[in-house]
Amino acid sequence: MANVAFIGLGTMGYPMAGHLTKAGHEVTVYNRTFAKAEAWVSEYAGKAAKTPQAAAEGCDIVFVCVGNDDDLYQVTTGEEGAIKGMKPGAILVDHTTASAEAARTLNAVCGEQGLGFIDAPVSGGQAGAENGVLSVMCGGDSEVYKQVEPVIDAYAKSQSLLGDAGAGQLAKMMNQICIAGLVQGLAEAIHFGQKSGLDVAAVIDVIQHGAAGSWQMVNRHQTMIDEKYDYGFAVDWMRKDLGIVLNEARSNGARLPVTAIVDQFYSEVQALGGNRWDTSSLLKRLQSMDK
Ligand code: NAP
Repeated sequence: MANVAFIGLGTMGYPMAGHLTKAGHEVTVYNRTFAKAEAWVSEYAGKAAKTPQAAAEGCDIVFVCVGNDDDLYQVTTGEEGAIKGMKPGAILVDHTTASAEAARTLNAVCGEQGLGFIDAPVSGGQAGAENGVLSVMCGGDSEVYKQVEPVIDAYAKSQSLLGDAGAGQLAKMMNQICIAGLVQGLAEAIHFGQKSGLDVAAVIDVIQHGAAGSWQMVNRHQTMIDEKYDYGFAVDWMRKDLGIVLNEARSNGARLPVTAIVDQFYSEVQALGGNRWDTSSLLKRLQSMDK
């Protein structure tokens, strides 16, 4: 069993750190809002530290799951950041959805200090984290990955090393590109069905088993019909992710016309007040044009 730290007890990190404890690892947590770390300690066996540096001291692996690139740098290379506390040979695993550039930078910083680094963004949402069935996309050195793979298993249904540092983040970008176009397609289909006077739920009951079926269709169609948009990944987070994707595409030359327009649509959802609505609220944007 490993001695590990977990930094960032948000929607995702809180249950992920819990799975590490349940798997028998010694876990020290850090959260910027300390009350959340205290709540975590009272729910699971473990310790809470006051800084990322203190949490990382003596640990074999330090996990991070915070918001974006800036947050990631703050808790790793910043003042009282985790890297300052890590012992030689320890490994930093980053579960934040961040840029590939941040992964390459942290990989280099860790390498200079005799530390390992794996970028490991996740997919599967809050439910995936709570049920310990996340998909984890990893980038980094294969010898380093072998050491963290069995520990990540505590909350993963599937995981894979997909290339050098940054490859995990690039894979997560592919994931978000797929979702963006797919959710807009689903929103347009539901909108069209409603305009046609069809019983949309009945139609989806049939077509979800055919070639049009998707996780989004199965899990979100009813909440979309009910105009309930409080079921998971928020529009603000999606725009952060699509910003990372479109930036990367500018540097690698990929053409992403649908992703770019869906990002624009999400900015219109934000203008409707939907910052915290889930990503399926693209339907609400279409419906709002009728009013
Ligand atoms: P969240 O609930 O907003 O939690 C963010 C966590 O990061 C909190 O613990 C927050 O601390 C901490 N944090 C943020 N900025 C910080 C800073 N500058 N210094 C120290 N701590 C900081 O976010 P989440 O939903 O868990 O998402 C975390 C990451 O996973 C994001 O990159 C997101 O894109 C990705 N992700 C999320 C989902 C999802 O469905 N939610 C799915 C896949 C991937 P406080 O408690 O003090 O605010």
